[in-house]
Amino acid sequence: MTERYDVVVIGAGPAGYTAAIRAAQLGLKVVCVDDWRDTQDGPALGGTCLNAGCIPSKALLETSELYILARDHGPAHGLKFKELSLDLAAMMAHKDKVVSELTRGIATLFKANGVTWIPGRGKLLAKNIVEVSGKSAQQLQAEHVILASGSTPVNLKSAPFDGQRIVDSQSALAFKDVPRRLGVIGAGVVGLELGSVWRRLGSEVLLLEAQETFLSMADEQIAREALKQFTAQGLNIRLGARVLDSRMEKSAVTVRYQDKDGEHEESVERLIVAVGRRPNTDGLFAAETGLLLDEWGFVHVDEHCRTNLPNVHAVGDVVRGPMLAHKGMEEGVMVAERIAGRPASVDYDVVPSVIYTQPEIAWVGKTEQTLKSAGEPYRTGVFPFAANGRAKAMGETSGFVKILADARTDRVRGVHMVGPMCSELVAAAVLAMSFGASSEDIMLTMFAHPTLSEAFHESALAVAGRAIHLAQSRHPKT
Ligand code: NAD
Repeated sequence: MTERYDVVVIGAGPAGYTAAIRAAQLGLKVVCVDDWRDTQDGPALGGTCLNAGCIPSKALLETSELYILARDHGPAHGLKFKELSLDLAAMMAHKDKVVSELTRGIATLFKANGVTWIPGRGKLLAKNIVEVSGKSAQQLQAEHVILASGSTPVNLKSAPFDGQRIVDSQSALAFKDVPRRLGVIGAGVVGLELGSVWRRLGSEVLLLEAQETFLSMADEQIAREALKQFTAQGLNIRLGARVLDSRMEKSAVTVRYQDKDGEHEESVERLIVAVGRRPNTDGLFAAETGLLLDEWGFVHVDEHCRTNLPNVHAVGDVVRGPMLAHKGMEEGVMVAERIAGRPASVDYDVVPSVIYTQPEIAWVGKTEQTLKSAGEPYRTGVFPFAANGRAKAMGETSGFVKILADARTDRVRGVHMVGPMCSELVAAAVLAMSFGASSEDIMLTMFAHPTLSEAFHESALAVAGRAIHLAQSRHPKT
Protein backbone atom coordinates (compact mmCIF):
# COMPACT_ATOMS: atom_id res chain seq x y z
CA MET A 1 0.00 0.00 0.00
CA THR A 2 1.25 3.51 -0.79
CA GLU A 3 1.12 5.63 2.36
CA ARG A 4 -0.15 9.19 1.82
CA TYR A 5 1.50 12.26 3.41
CA ASP A 6 0.94 15.99 3.20
CA VAL A 7 4.69 16.53 3.00
CA VAL A 8 7.53 14.17 2.09
CA VAL A 9 10.98 15.62 2.80
CA ILE A 10 14.02 13.99 1.18
CA GLY A 11 17.07 14.71 3.34
CA ALA A 12 17.37 15.33 7.08
CA GLY A 13 20.19 17.88 7.14
CA PRO A 14 19.50 21.34 8.63
CA ALA A 15 17.32 22.40 5.67
CA GLY A 16 15.30 19.17 5.54
CA TYR A 17 14.81 18.47 9.25
CA THR A 18 13.86 22.11 9.91
CA ALA A 19 11.30 22.02 7.08
CA ALA A 20 9.90 18.74 8.44
CA ILE A 21 9.58 20.00 12.02
CA ARG A 22 8.00 23.32 11.01
CA ALA A 23 5.54 21.62 8.64
CA ALA A 24 4.52 19.23 11.43
CA GLN A 25 4.12 22.16 13.84
CA LEU A 26 1.72 23.64 11.29
CA GLY A 27 -0.46 20.52 11.52
CA LEU A 28 0.68 18.70 8.39
CA LYS A 29 1.33 14.95 8.16
CA VAL A 30 5.08 14.76 7.49
CA VAL A 31 7.63 12.08 6.69
CA CYS A 32 11.36 12.62 6.32
CA VAL A 33 13.47 10.14 4.32
CA ASP A 34 17.23 10.14 4.86
CA ASP A 35 20.02 7.69 4.03
CA TRP A 36 22.85 8.94 6.30
CA ARG A 37 24.58 6.22 8.33
CA ASP A 38 26.80 7.11 11.26
CA THR A 39 30.16 5.57 12.21
CA GLN A 40 28.46 2.65 13.97
CA ASP A 41 26.63 2.22 10.65
CA GLY A 42 23.26 3.08 12.14
CA PRO A 43 20.94 5.61 10.55
CA ALA A 44 21.50 9.16 11.81
CA LEU A 45 19.64 12.41 11.34
CA GLY A 46 21.29 15.81 10.85
CA GLY A 47 23.05 15.31 7.50
CA THR A 48 26.54 16.64 6.81
CA CYS A 49 26.27 19.56 9.24
CA LEU A 50 25.68 17.46 12.35
CA ASN A 51 27.49 14.27 11.39
CA ALA A 52 30.47 15.39 9.34
CA GLY A 53 30.61 19.17 9.05
CA CYS A 54 29.73 22.16 11.21
CA ILE A 55 29.28 20.38 14.53
CA PRO A 56 32.24 17.96 14.64
CA SER A 57 34.54 20.63 13.19
CA LYS A 58 33.41 23.09 15.85
CA ALA A 59 34.10 20.51 18.55
CA LEU A 60 37.66 20.05 17.25
CA LEU A 61 38.14 23.80 16.80
CA GLU A 62 37.04 24.44 20.39
CA THR A 63 39.28 21.76 21.88
CA SER A 64 42.33 22.67 19.84
CA GLU A 65 41.80 26.33 20.72
CA LEU A 66 41.62 25.47 24.42
CA TYR A 67 44.90 23.61 24.01
CA ILE A 68 46.58 26.67 22.44
CA LEU A 69 45.09 28.96 25.08
CA ALA A 70 46.48 26.81 27.87
CA ARG A 71 49.85 26.24 26.23
CA ASP A 72 50.64 29.61 24.66
CA HIS A 73 48.44 32.14 26.44
CA GLY A 74 48.16 30.59 29.90
CA PRO A 75 51.45 31.99 31.21
CA ALA A 76 50.47 35.58 30.32
CA HIS A 77 47.34 35.10 32.47
CA GLY A 78 49.43 33.62 35.27
CA LEU A 79 48.42 30.03 34.54
CA LYS A 80 51.18 27.50 34.34
CA PHE A 81 50.59 23.89 33.39
CA LYS A 82 53.33 21.44 34.30
CA GLU A 83 52.30 18.57 32.10
CA LEU A 84 49.95 19.73 29.42
CA SER A 85 49.49 16.98 26.87
CA LEU A 86 47.17 16.12 24.06
CA ASP A 87 44.99 13.01 24.14
CA LEU A 88 43.79 12.87 20.55
CA ALA A 89 41.58 9.82 21.14
CA ALA A 90 39.79 11.63 24.01
CA MET A 91 39.42 14.73 21.86
CA MET A 92 37.79 12.63 19.12
CA ALA A 93 35.57 10.88 21.67
CA HIS A 94 34.36 14.28 22.91
CA LYS A 95 33.57 15.27 19.31
CA ASP A 96 31.70 11.99 18.68
CA LYS A 97 29.68 12.45 21.88
CA VAL A 98 28.64 15.98 20.86
CA VAL A 99 27.60 14.68 17.44
CA SER A 100 25.61 11.70 18.70
CA GLU A 101 23.81 13.76 21.35
CA LEU A 102 22.76 16.29 18.76
CA THR A 103 21.71 13.78 16.09
CA ARG A 104 19.69 11.86 18.68
CA GLY A 105 18.22 15.23 19.65
CA ILE A 106 16.79 15.60 16.14
CA ALA A 107 15.20 12.15 16.45
CA THR A 108 13.61 13.29 19.73
CA LEU A 109 12.31 16.45 18.06
CA PHE A 110 10.86 14.40 15.20
CA LYS A 111 9.06 12.19 17.71
CA ALA A 112 7.80 15.15 19.75
CA ASN A 113 6.41 16.84 16.63
CA GLY A 114 4.99 13.69 15.06
CA VAL A 115 7.39 13.62 12.09
CA THR A 116 7.82 10.08 10.69
CA TRP A 117 11.45 9.19 9.98
CA ILE A 118 12.21 6.60 7.31
CA PRO A 119 15.89 5.64 6.95
CA GLY A 120 16.62 4.96 3.28
CA ARG A 121 17.25 6.65 -0.01
CA GLY A 122 14.43 8.75 -1.45
CA LYS A 123 13.78 9.28 -5.13
CA LEU A 124 11.15 11.53 -6.66
CA LEU A 125 9.04 9.76 -9.27
CA ALA A 126 6.29 11.21 -11.45
CA LYS A 127 3.00 12.33 -9.82
CA ASN A 128 4.69 13.22 -6.52
CA ILE A 129 5.46 9.67 -5.57
CA VAL A 130 8.63 9.20 -3.54
CA GLU A 131 10.26 5.81 -3.77
CA VAL A 132 12.30 4.73 -0.76
CA SER A 133 15.02 2.15 -1.28
CA GLY A 134 16.99 0.36 1.42
CA LYS A 135 15.74 -1.76 4.32
CA SER A 136 12.44 0.15 4.53
CA ALA A 137 11.73 0.05 0.78
CA GLN A 138 8.30 1.49 0.00
CA GLN A 139 6.47 4.14 -1.98
CA LEU A 140 5.04 7.31 -0.48
CA GLN A 141 2.35 9.47 -2.05
CA ALA A 142 3.02 13.14 -1.36
CA GLU A 143 0.81 16.18 -1.61
CA HIS A 144 4.04 18.21 -1.39
CA VAL A 145 7.67 17.17 -1.77
CA ILE A 146 10.66 19.05 -0.35
CA LEU A 147 14.03 18.10 -1.83
CA ALA A 148 16.81 18.72 0.70
CA SER A 149 19.49 16.27 -0.38
CA GLY A 150 22.46 18.56 0.37
CA SER A 151 25.90 18.51 -1.19
CA THR A 152 29.05 16.48 -1.39
CA PRO A 153 32.78 17.42 -1.59
CA VAL A 154 34.19 18.05 -5.05
CA ASN A 155 36.72 15.40 -6.10
CA LEU A 156 39.79 16.70 -7.97
CA LYS A 157 41.17 14.74 -10.93
CA SER A 158 44.69 15.90 -10.01
CA ALA A 159 44.31 14.61 -6.43
CA PRO A 160 41.48 12.06 -6.25
CA PHE A 161 40.23 10.98 -2.81
CA ASP A 162 41.54 7.59 -1.65
CA GLY A 163 40.12 7.87 1.86
CA GLN A 164 43.55 7.29 3.43
CA ARG A 165 46.16 9.81 2.30
CA ILE A 166 44.00 12.06 0.11
CA VAL A 167 40.86 12.82 2.02
CA ASP A 168 37.79 15.03 2.13
CA SER A 169 36.67 17.21 5.03
CA GLN A 170 34.80 14.33 6.69
CA SER A 171 37.85 12.04 6.95
CA ALA A 172 39.97 14.99 8.07
CA LEU A 173 37.76 15.18 11.18
CA ALA A 174 38.81 11.71 12.26
CA PHE A 175 42.59 11.33 11.79
CA LYS A 176 43.91 8.82 14.30
CA ASP A 177 47.19 10.69 14.72
CA VAL A 178 48.49 14.19 14.09
CA PRO A 179 50.09 14.30 10.63
CA ARG A 180 53.62 15.68 10.74
CA ARG A 181 53.11 17.45 7.40
CA LEU A 182 49.59 18.18 6.20
CA GLY A 183 48.70 19.53 2.77
CA VAL A 184 45.38 21.22 2.04
CA ILE A 185 44.15 22.03 -1.45
CA GLY A 186 41.86 25.07 -1.23
CA ALA A 187 42.28 27.88 1.32
CA GLY A 188 38.53 28.41 1.63
CA VAL A 189 36.35 27.90 4.69
CA VAL A 190 37.02 24.18 5.16
CA GLY A 191 40.72 24.48 4.35
CA LEU A 192 41.27 27.24 6.87
CA GLU A 193 39.20 25.67 9.65
CA LEU A 194 40.65 22.17 9.36
CA GLY A 195 44.12 23.51 8.60
CA SER A 196 43.86 25.50 11.86
CA VAL A 197 42.78 22.47 13.91
CA TRP A 198 45.73 20.34 12.80
CA ARG A 199 48.20 23.24 12.92
CA ARG A 200 47.25 23.83 16.58
CA LEU A 201 47.79 20.16 17.32
CA GLY A 202 51.28 20.32 15.84
CA SER A 203 51.10 19.65 12.08
CA GLU A 204 53.14 21.65 9.66
CA VAL A 205 50.34 22.88 7.36
CA LEU A 206 50.67 23.86 3.72
CA LEU A 207 47.62 25.33 1.94
CA LEU A 208 47.57 25.48 -1.85
CA GLU A 209 45.03 27.99 -3.12
CA ALA A 210 44.32 28.39 -6.84
CA GLN A 211 43.25 32.03 -6.62
CA GLU A 212 45.77 34.86 -6.43
CA THR A 213 43.56 36.63 -3.91
CA PHE A 214 43.19 35.30 -0.38
CA LEU A 215 39.53 34.87 0.72
CA SER A 216 38.21 36.70 -2.32
CA MET A 217 34.63 36.57 -1.04
CA ALA A 218 35.54 38.52 2.12
CA ASP A 219 36.13 42.25 2.50
CA GLU A 220 39.69 42.91 1.29
CA GLN A 221 40.76 44.68 4.49
CA ILE A 222 39.50 41.75 6.57
CA ALA A 223 41.20 39.21 4.29
CA ARG A 224 44.52 41.08 4.58
CA GLU A 225 44.38 41.07 8.39
CA ALA A 226 43.34 37.40 8.47
CA LEU A 227 46.19 36.38 6.17
CA LYS A 228 48.64 38.20 8.43
CA GLN A 229 47.32 36.41 11.53
CA PHE A 230 47.17 32.96 9.92
CA THR A 231 50.69 33.31 8.55
CA ALA A 232 51.92 34.30 12.03
CA GLN A 233 50.31 31.10 13.37
CA GLY A 234 52.40 29.09 10.95
CA LEU A 235 49.82 28.31 8.27
CA ASN A 236 51.84 28.23 5.06
CA ILE A 237 49.41 29.67 2.50
CA ARG A 238 50.53 29.64 -1.14
CA LEU A 239 48.32 31.67 -3.44
CA GLY A 240 47.97 31.26 -7.20
CA ALA A 241 48.90 27.58 -6.78
CA ARG A 242 47.46 25.30 -9.46
CA VAL A 243 47.69 21.62 -8.55
CA LEU A 244 48.94 19.60 -11.52
CA ASP A 245 48.95 16.08 -10.10
CA SER A 246 49.67 13.99 -7.05
CA ARG A 247 51.68 10.84 -6.55
CA MET A 248 51.21 8.23 -3.86
CA GLU A 249 54.43 7.26 -2.05
CA LYS A 250 54.88 4.61 0.64
CA SER A 251 54.06 6.84 3.57
CA ALA A 252 53.35 10.16 1.90
CA VAL A 253 51.72 11.84 -1.03
CA THR A 254 53.64 14.16 -3.32
CA VAL A 255 51.75 17.09 -4.83
CA ARG A 256 53.02 18.87 -7.91
CA TYR A 257 51.74 22.39 -8.42
CA GLN A 258 52.48 25.46 -10.44
CA ASP A 259 52.53 29.10 -9.41
CA LYS A 260 54.05 32.29 -10.82
CA ASP A 261 57.53 31.04 -9.91
CA GLY A 262 57.18 27.79 -11.83
CA GLU A 263 56.59 24.16 -10.84
CA HIS A 264 57.05 22.81 -7.33
CA GLU A 265 56.70 19.50 -5.50
CA GLU A 266 55.76 19.02 -1.87
CA SER A 267 55.56 15.81 0.06
CA VAL A 268 52.92 15.58 2.79
CA GLU A 269 51.71 12.79 5.05
CA ARG A 270 48.09 13.57 4.33
CA LEU A 271 46.32 15.77 1.84
CA ILE A 272 42.90 17.32 2.45
CA VAL A 273 41.05 18.37 -0.69
CA ALA A 274 38.69 21.24 0.16
CA VAL A 275 37.85 22.92 -3.13
CA GLY A 276 34.13 23.29 -2.66
CA ARG A 277 31.05 21.10 -2.72
CA ARG A 278 28.57 20.08 -5.42
CA PRO A 279 24.83 19.54 -5.11
CA ASN A 280 23.63 15.99 -4.42
CA THR A 281 21.29 15.24 -7.28
CA ASP A 282 22.53 11.78 -8.33
CA GLY A 283 19.55 9.43 -8.29
CA LEU A 284 17.40 12.06 -6.59
CA PHE A 285 14.67 12.09 -9.23
CA ALA A 286 13.46 10.07 -12.19
CA ALA A 287 13.99 11.67 -15.61
CA GLU A 288 10.26 11.45 -16.41
CA THR A 289 9.50 13.96 -13.63
CA GLY A 290 11.01 16.66 -15.83
CA LEU A 291 12.67 18.34 -12.82
CA LEU A 292 14.85 21.19 -14.04
CA LEU A 293 18.47 21.66 -12.94
CA ASP A 294 20.31 24.92 -13.51
CA GLU A 295 23.52 25.24 -15.53
CA TRP A 296 25.67 24.43 -12.45
CA GLY A 297 23.68 21.28 -11.61
CA PHE A 298 21.66 22.72 -8.73
CA VAL A 299 17.90 22.09 -8.60
CA HIS A 300 16.42 25.16 -10.26
CA VAL A 301 14.23 27.18 -7.90
CA ASP A 302 12.72 30.65 -7.65
CA GLU A 303 13.08 32.99 -4.66
CA HIS A 304 10.51 30.94 -2.78
CA CYS A 305 12.34 27.66 -3.44
CA ARG A 306 9.67 26.45 -5.89
CA THR A 307 10.99 24.07 -8.55
CA ASN A 308 9.46 23.89 -12.03
CA LEU A 309 7.17 21.06 -10.82
CA PRO A 310 3.89 21.76 -9.02
CA ASN A 311 4.09 21.16 -5.25
CA VAL A 312 7.79 20.30 -5.38
CA HIS A 313 10.19 22.56 -3.50
CA ALA A 314 13.95 22.33 -2.97
CA VAL A 315 16.00 23.88 -0.16
CA GLY A 316 19.54 24.07 1.23
CA ASP A 317 22.80 23.11 -0.50
CA VAL A 318 20.99 21.44 -3.42
CA VAL A 319 19.79 24.88 -4.62
CA ARG A 320 21.56 28.15 -5.51
CA GLY A 321 23.05 30.45 -2.89
CA PRO A 322 25.69 29.95 -0.23
CA MET A 323 26.07 26.41 1.12
CA LEU A 324 25.35 27.37 4.70
CA ALA A 325 23.25 25.46 7.23
CA HIS A 326 21.47 28.59 8.47
CA LYS A 327 20.49 29.63 4.93
CA GLY A 328 19.04 26.14 4.38
CA MET A 329 17.17 26.20 7.68
CA GLU A 330 15.50 29.52 6.84
CA GLU A 331 14.54 28.15 3.43
CA GLY A 332 13.09 25.05 5.13
CA VAL A 333 10.93 27.19 7.40
CA MET A 334 9.82 29.42 4.50
CA VAL A 335 8.74 26.45 2.39
CA ALA A 336 6.86 24.77 5.27
CA GLU A 337 5.01 28.04 5.96
CA ARG A 338 4.11 28.52 2.32
CA ILE A 339 2.87 24.93 1.99
CA ALA A 340 0.61 25.66 4.97
CA GLY A 341 -0.73 28.69 3.09
CA ARG A 342 1.11 31.36 5.03
CA PRO A 343 3.18 34.18 3.54
CA ALA A 344 6.92 33.73 4.10
CA SER A 345 10.20 34.71 2.49
CA VAL A 346 13.95 34.65 3.08
CA ASP A 347 15.99 37.84 3.02
CA TYR A 348 19.01 36.69 1.03
CA ASP A 349 20.71 40.09 1.51
CA VAL A 350 21.40 39.40 5.16
CA VAL A 351 22.87 35.89 5.25
CA PRO A 352 25.78 35.92 7.73
CA SER A 353 29.09 34.28 6.79
CA VAL A 354 31.45 32.96 9.45
CA ILE A 355 34.86 31.33 9.39
CA TYR A 356 35.58 29.70 12.75
CA THR A 357 39.32 30.24 12.81
CA GLN A 358 41.27 32.19 15.41
CA PRO A 359 40.71 35.07 14.98
CA GLU A 360 37.19 34.42 13.77
CA ILE A 361 35.99 36.08 10.60
CA ALA A 362 32.36 37.09 10.11
CA TRP A 363 30.40 39.37 7.90
CA VAL A 364 26.99 40.27 6.53
CA GLY A 365 26.04 42.40 3.53
CA LYS A 366 28.24 44.04 0.93
CA THR A 367 32.02 44.25 0.99
CA GLU A 368 33.83 47.54 0.44
CA GLN A 369 35.17 46.36 -2.93
CA THR A 370 31.63 45.49 -4.12
CA LEU A 371 30.29 48.92 -3.17
CA LYS A 372 33.29 50.57 -4.79
CA SER A 373 32.98 48.69 -8.06
CA ALA A 374 29.22 49.39 -8.16
CA GLY A 375 30.00 53.08 -7.72
CA GLU A 376 27.84 53.27 -4.59
CA PRO A 377 28.91 56.03 -2.19
CA TYR A 378 29.66 54.81 1.33
CA ARG A 379 31.19 55.85 4.61
CA THR A 380 33.35 53.59 6.73
CA GLY A 381 33.72 53.14 10.47
CA VAL A 382 36.46 50.88 11.83
CA PHE A 383 37.19 50.00 15.43
CA PRO A 384 40.09 47.77 16.54
CA PHE A 385 39.73 45.15 19.28
CA ALA A 386 43.05 46.47 20.66
CA ALA A 387 41.04 49.40 22.07
CA ASN A 388 38.30 47.20 23.58
CA GLY A 389 38.56 46.45 27.31
CA ARG A 390 37.06 42.96 27.17
CA ALA A 391 39.35 41.93 24.31
CA LYS A 392 42.32 43.21 26.34
CA ALA A 393 41.23 41.15 29.37
CA MET A 394 40.93 38.10 27.14
CA GLY A 395 44.33 38.78 25.64
CA GLU A 396 42.81 38.68 22.17
CA THR A 397 43.36 42.09 20.72
CA SER A 398 43.96 41.42 17.05
CA GLY A 399 41.41 42.39 14.45
CA PHE A 400 38.65 44.97 14.12
CA VAL A 401 35.00 45.64 13.27
CA LYS A 402 34.17 47.60 10.14
CA ILE A 403 30.84 49.11 9.16
CA LEU A 404 29.99 50.33 5.70
CA ALA A 405 27.08 52.78 5.57
CA ASP A 406 25.42 54.39 2.57
CA ALA A 407 26.84 57.92 2.25
CA ARG A 408 23.41 59.32 1.26
CA THR A 409 21.01 57.53 3.59
CA ASP A 410 23.37 56.19 6.30
CA ARG A 411 21.72 52.77 5.94
CA VAL A 412 24.15 49.99 6.88
CA ARG A 413 25.23 48.09 3.77
CA GLY A 414 27.76 45.72 5.28
CA VAL A 415 29.45 44.77 8.54
CA HIS A 416 32.78 42.91 8.53
CA MET A 417 34.76 41.62 11.46
CA VAL A 418 37.91 39.73 12.25
CA GLY A 419 38.73 39.06 15.88
CA PRO A 420 37.54 37.23 19.01
CA MET A 421 34.02 35.74 19.03
CA CYS A 422 33.02 37.42 15.78
CA SER A 423 30.72 34.46 15.03
CA GLU A 424 28.58 35.66 17.94
CA LEU A 425 29.06 39.39 17.38
CA VAL A 426 27.81 39.25 13.80
CA ALA A 427 24.30 38.43 15.06
CA ALA A 428 23.83 42.04 16.19
CA ALA A 429 24.85 43.24 12.74
CA VAL A 430 22.44 40.83 11.04
CA LEU A 431 19.63 42.02 13.31
CA ALA A 432 20.44 45.67 12.62
CA MET A 433 20.56 45.15 8.86
CA SER A 434 17.39 43.03 8.88
CA PHE A 435 15.57 45.99 10.40
CA GLY A 436 17.15 48.39 7.89
CA ALA A 437 19.22 50.17 10.55
CA SER A 438 21.36 53.20 9.86
CA SER A 439 24.80 53.51 11.45
CA GLU A 440 23.22 56.23 13.61
CA ASP A 441 20.63 53.70 14.91
CA ILE A 442 23.50 51.50 16.10
CA MET A 443 25.33 54.54 17.45
CA LEU A 444 22.28 55.45 19.56
CA THR A 445 21.93 51.91 20.95
CA MET A 446 23.34 51.04 24.39
CA PHE A 447 25.77 48.10 24.55
CA ALA A 448 26.82 46.41 27.78
CA HIS A 449 30.25 47.24 29.16
CA PRO A 450 32.72 45.58 29.14
CA THR A 451 31.84 43.42 26.14
CA LEU A 452 33.29 42.70 22.74
CA SER A 453 30.04 44.01 21.26
CA GLU A 454 31.17 47.52 22.16
CA ALA A 455 33.60 47.23 19.24
CA PHE A 456 30.54 46.99 16.98
CA HIS A 457 29.03 50.04 18.70
CA GLU A 458 32.25 52.01 18.39
CA SER A 459 32.59 51.13 14.71
CA ALA A 460 29.17 52.74 14.18
CA LEU A 461 30.36 55.78 16.13
CA ALA A 462 33.48 55.80 13.96
CA VAL A 463 31.35 56.20 10.82
CA ALA A 464 30.59 59.70 12.14
CA GLY A 465 34.16 60.16 13.43
CA ARG A 466 32.79 59.92 16.98
CA ALA A 467 34.41 56.76 18.40
CA ILE A 468 35.11 57.42 22.07
CA HIS A 469 37.99 55.03 22.68
CA LEU A 470 39.94 55.86 19.56
CA ALA A 471 42.29 58.76 18.98
CA GLN A 472 41.70 59.95 15.41
CA SER A 473 45.32 59.24 14.57
CA ARG A 474 44.81 55.61 15.65
CA HIS A 475 41.95 55.03 13.22
CA PRO A 476 43.13 52.06 11.16
CA LYS A 477 43.65 52.91 7.52
CA THR A 478 40.70 51.94 5.36
P1 NAD B 1 35.05 27.11 -0.47
O1 NAD B 1 34.35 27.50 -1.70
O2 NAD B 1 34.86 27.89 0.77
O3 NAD B 1 36.63 27.14 -0.74
C1 NAD B 1 37.24 26.39 -1.75
C2 NAD B 1 38.56 27.05 -2.11
O4 NAD B 1 39.26 26.18 -2.96
C3 NAD B 1 38.39 28.36 -2.85
O5 NAD B 1 39.21 29.35 -2.26
C4 NAD B 1 38.85 28.03 -4.27
O6 NAD B 1 39.45 29.12 -4.92
C5 NAD B 1 39.85 26.93 -4.02
N1 NAD B 1 40.04 26.01 -5.13
C6 NAD B 1 39.10 25.52 -5.99
N2 NAD B 1 39.68 24.66 -6.86
C7 NAD B 1 41.00 24.59 -6.53
C8 NAD B 1 42.12 23.89 -7.05
N3 NAD B 1 41.99 23.05 -8.08
N4 NAD B 1 43.34 24.06 -6.46
C9 NAD B 1 43.47 24.91 -5.41
N5 NAD B 1 42.44 25.61 -4.90
C10 NAD B 1 41.22 25.46 -5.43
O7 NAD B 1 34.73 25.55 -0.28
P2 NAD B 1 35.03 24.60 0.95
O8 NAD B 1 36.01 25.24 1.87
O9 NAD B 1 35.35 23.28 0.37
O10 NAD B 1 33.63 24.54 1.68
C11 NAD B 1 32.53 23.94 1.00
C12 NAD B 1 31.24 24.62 1.36
O11 NAD B 1 30.91 24.35 2.70
C13 NAD B 1 31.31 26.11 1.19
O12 NAD B 1 30.18 26.56 0.51
C14 NAD B 1 31.34 26.63 2.58
O13 NAD B 1 30.68 27.87 2.70
C15 NAD B 1 30.63 25.54 3.37
N6 NAD B 1 31.22 25.52 4.71
C16 NAD B 1 30.93 26.54 5.55
C17 NAD B 1 31.51 26.59 6.79
C18 NAD B 1 31.20 27.73 7.69
O14 NAD B 1 30.18 28.37 7.51
N7 NAD B 1 32.05 28.07 8.64
C19 NAD B 1 32.41 25.61 7.19
C20 NAD B 1 32.69 24.59 6.29
C21 NAD B 1 32.08 24.56 5.05
